[in-house]
Amino acid sequence: MKKTLPASLLLLLSLPACAQQKEMKPDLPVEKWTAKTVMLIGAHADDDQLSHGTLAMLQAHRNQVYVVTLTTGNVGTQDPNLSRTQLALIRRQEELAALAELGIPGDHYINLGYDDGLLEFEDRKAVVENLVRWIRKLRPDVLFAWDPGKNYQRWHKSDHRAAAYLAADAARAAMWRLLFEGQITQEGLREYMIPEYLFFNDYDYEDENITVDISEFVEKKVNAGAKYVSQYGPGWKNYKPNLSENELQEMKELMQKRVRTKDGKAIEGFRYYRGLPDAIGK
Ligand SMILES: [Zn+2]
Repeated sequence: MKKTLPASLLLLLSLPACAQQKEMKPDLPVEKWTAKTVMLIGAHADDDQLSHGTLAMLQAHRNQVYVVTLTTGNVGTQDPNLSRTQLALIRRQEELAALAELGIPGDHYINLGYDDGLLEFEDRKAVVENLVRWIRKLRPDVLFAWDPGKNYQRWHKSDHRAAAYLAADAARAAMWRLLFEGQITQEGLREYMIPEYLFFNDYDYEDENITVDISEFVEKKVNAGAKYVSQYGPGWKNYKPNLSENELQEMKELMQKRVRTKDGKAIEGFRYYRGLPDAIGK
């Protein structure tokens, strides 16, 4: 399934970087995207939650959505009775349940199995190699990832900042045939350049250049968010697999409150970028 670069991208690549980034917009609004392969790289089960409305929309519009999570989420709890093994299993089940609410099939969830909380201390070359393998396999048209920053290094909490840079570094490495060339000579993969990116942030939206109208997908976003029982609500301190009716309602109300609005519409916002991975942060 060879993919060639569209003419608009070739033209874009010939422009100076400063001219490229000023008013960068997708050729078609995200609401009209169809038949694309979409890949999201996050650190934890629930990092994709910031994009759930958009992912549900893309899935409904016959795009193929894949979620790659770097860690098992096996640390982040305040419940004194959960072990790492139990928590990793719970986080996996919750993520699969959340993605099912969005219509994303379970085999589109890929967990790379790193420990929660210490991602930036992993062997970066090995993590990038792992991500490059998935980029070369899935060959996404669009990558969703934590925003590594534009003209500066953006601060995120631990794991998120690592995930932001690891995703950007992997996007760059994937396009060079002689990097991790064993994947090409031994595993039947080919180099690949991701052409478009949607970078997300939490609670800091100054670099956003597009918003996506998710009005029709708010219910799916709320229902999916309510699946993260071990991360929000009473399960954070005292995990139990099944919430009462009241507790579930409270979870959904919490998720509803977190939905952003603009001009009366429910939205999610991103920094859209198109072009060479070298200039993702320029
Ligand atoms: Zn996270």
